[in-house]
Amino acid sequence: MTPDSPLVLGTRNRKKGDELAELLAPWHIKVATLDEFPEAIDVVEDGDTFSANATLKTTRQAVHLGRWVLADDSGLMVDALGGEPGVYSARFAGPNATDEGNNRLVLQRLNNTPLEKRTAHYVCHVALADPSGAVRAESHAECHGRIRFKPAGTNGFGYDPLFEVVEYHRTFGELGPHVKRAISHRARAMRAILPEVVRSMKHGARSKE
Ligand code: IMP
Repeated sequence: MTPDSPLVLGTRNRKKGDELAELLAPWHIKVATLDEFPEAIDVVEDGDTFSANATLKTTRQAVHLGRWVLADDSGLMVDALGGEPGVYSARFAGPNATDEGNNRLVLQRLNNTPLEKRTAHYVCHVALADPSGAVRAESHAECHGRIRFKPAGTNGFGYDPLFEVVEYHRTFGELGPHVKRAISHRARAMRAILPEVVRSMKHGARSKE
């Protein structure tokens, strides 16, 4: 790998990829998306945990592309639903689920659950793999809130219009990217892993190959 080789963001979710890229931007690490690699594989996420799926996404793609890959596995856990949708967040309403369909199903399942029992949290597990497929760093973080009775706001993606950050009395859909960049599960997990990502991409990439 040359020093100019980009860090590949191992996601096909464009909005998630944008969030990851923005969180890396201050460090001037060159990043690339999977769209730039037609040969990239679709990794089957059949792990039972966020950690297992994040590891699958990074290691398999890294070996396949022969590049450094960073990916997260993330999702929403709703207490009154026993932690669902959890690792199935992306496809909660079925294999071709849309964000709207997933949100509708969460609201249906919660039905008349009162506000105080609508607690939920987002989870994010981030992993960094080197071109040999070895995991070089991992981090895990959460962001706590509760599920509104109806969607509000158009920012973000996924369950953001339903997810209220209690301190702000607003959903991530209403709050916009600046707040999400500061306090989200993804932002927190990225802050924890960043020193190792920066070290690997700026100094370790050549010496460890
Ligand atoms: P993954 O791409 O397999 O990790 O699935 C992530 C899914 O979890 C997304 O498709 C969303 O449904 C949900 N999710 C994860 N992070 C967020 C977020 O920051 N906002 C809203 N939904 C999220």
